[in-house]
This record gives sequence, structure tokens and C-alpha cells, in this order.
Amino acid sequence: MSILVQNLTKLYARTGETAQRAVDGISFSVQPGEIVGFLGPNGAGKSTTMKIATAYLPPTEGTVVVNGFDVRTNSIDVRRSLGYLPEHNPLYLDMYVKEFLHFAGSLHGLRGSGLSRRVTEMIGLVGLELEQRKKIGQLSKGYRQRVGLAQALIHNPPVLILDEPTTGLDPNQLTEIRQVIREVGREKTVLFSTHIMQEVEALCERVIIINRGRIVADGQLSQLRETSDGSVAVVAEFERDLEDVSVLNALPGILRIEALGENRYRLTAHQDSDLRAAVFRLAADKNLTLVGLKQQESNLEGVFKQLTTPTNK
Ligand code: ADP
Repeated sequence: MSILVQNLTKLYARTGETAQRAVDGISFSVQPGEIVGFLGPNGAGKSTTMKIATAYLPPTEGTVVVNGFDVRTNSIDVRRSLGYLPEHNPLYLDMYVKEFLHFAGSLHGLRGSGLSRRVTEMIGLVGLELEQRKKIGQLSKGYRQRVGLAQALIHNPPVLILDEPTTGLDPNQLTEIRQVIREVGREKTVLFSTHIMQEVEALCERVIIINRGRIVADGQLSQLRETSDGSVAVVAEFERDLEDVSVLNALPGILRIEALGENRYRLTAHQDSDLRAAVFRLAADKNLTLVGLKQQESNLEGVFKQLTTPTNK
């Protein structure tokens, strides 16, 4: 287990008021090699959880173990085991890119030719070749994020914790940073936070959703899609309009048939039926020429909203 969070609670003291429960008894684990999206609206408790997992903040209750080391009792080994890109990516703007990466590597005990080699490797990995001699303050936000990722990776940690790594990037930068995360995620365990559902869809198969300090979903994206409303839907397009739509009632588990026009029908069925195969077989049986068949993705944005709206406890 690369990251193990058990019954974690964090209270922030507020003067003159009761303490705020920013994280409220959460538990989850991340296996080696997984890229997991940690999703939730602003204020849900993502950064707090990540700060505890990186040994920046102590937990109020519960335990976090990273790469086998407990954040309370072995925080130095926790820090050695992970790379962390904090939310606002604190960088020394007056330092040159290469100089900063040398500095970051030296903090992890790298020296001499080993350090230089590692800096060069990181510059290549995150695509900073053309910018490596610039001051960090001269770089665009996208390139600063790359510097942040390079510093997080400099000591080759097995675990990466990235707090909203793509916030504020333009669409091109976003695609590039995702590509870098995907690349490094092949060999490492990655937990990254975001409040954007598409981000999770672009990067990982598993998602943990947190809302008001509590976990409201933890599973594979495919599971989340399927369980969102308990049904699956396909859009079938026939060569010509069906004379008798009721033939579609023979489909196993069919719940709804909607005519979309232009010979297209949206068919909704119980999730346990293999709808596409059934439509195909039915079309063959009834001599209907099927010219298109597409599985509909359920709306994950909708699932996210449903799980994190204020009425959801
Ligand atoms: P997220 O990263 O999901 O946006 P945070 O973990 O930053 O959420 O915040 C969770 C809650 O804890 C929020 O209500 C936030 O205002 C509060 N909070 C975060 N940091 C502090 C702090 N240092 N002191 C007091 N309250 C805080």
C-alpha cells in the first residue's frame, strides 16, 4: 500500500468559536502504481488531507502511512518517499530554473555529478529544455507548473502528491501537464486533487470524491458511471425509421425508448444487460439495418454534483 489513510480527522481551531472539522474521519488507500483523482468542491478538505499526507500538518486523529512510514512518527522518511506539488506552487521567482532544481535536489541530499545528471533528466522529462536558463519569474504559469513537477520528482520518489496541478492553465498547457503526469504515473503512485471532473476522466481510472470533510464516493470511474442512475443507454441508428417501435421492447431489461429523429433511438436499460449486443442481435433477427450504435457515457459532472450538493450529507 503506497498511501493508507485511516479514520483521519483534522480540526482547525477558530478563536472564539468551535473548531472546524475540515476532514471528518476519512479512510482510503492508494495501491502502488495507481493514479487516483481526489475530487471535491472548494473547501471539501482535499488540501488539508494532502498536507497531512505530506507531513506538513499533523492529524488531529487517525493515521496516514506513506510508503510504509507513519506521518506522525516517521515524517522524514515520509518526505523522502514522496514528491509534493502544493496548491500554489511556491517557487523562488528570482532563481534560474536550473539553479532552483539544483537547490531542490541538494535539499534531498543529492550532490555532484549525480545531482547534475538528475537535474538534466528532470528538465527533459517535464519539457523545460528551452526554458532551463531563464529565471522562474520569466516563465508562464504552465512552465512554472513544470518546474514544480520537476522539483517534486528530483529525488525519484515512489509516491507523488499533486494539489490541483492544472488549475489556472490554458487548454494547451493543460494538455501538456496532463501528458507529463500520465508519463510519470507509469512508474509511480500518484494522488492528485482537482475540482474538475474531466481532469479525472483524462488522467485516471479511479476517483475518490470528498465533500465537507467526508468521502462520498471511492471507486473506478466506470463503476461510478454505472451506479449513477442504475442504468445504461445506447443510441441506435437504423437505416430507416422503424415502422413499429414496439419491437424494441423485446430488448432485455429495457426501461425507456426515445425517438431522437433521423432514425435514431436512445435505448435505456438496466445496467446488468449487455445492451449493445442485444440491439445488434435484435436488429439481425428483425431484418433491421443498423447503421450506428453508440454507448452513452453517463454524465459524470451530474454524478459529482449529485454527490456534493449542500443537501448531501
Ligand atoms: P480544499 O482543498 O478541498 O479546497 P481545504 O482542505 O483547503 O479544502 O479546506 C477545508 C476547510 O478547512 C475549508 O473550510 C477551509 O476554509 C478550512 N481551512 C483550510 N486551512 C485552514 C487553516 N489553516 N485554518 C483554518 N481553516 C482552514
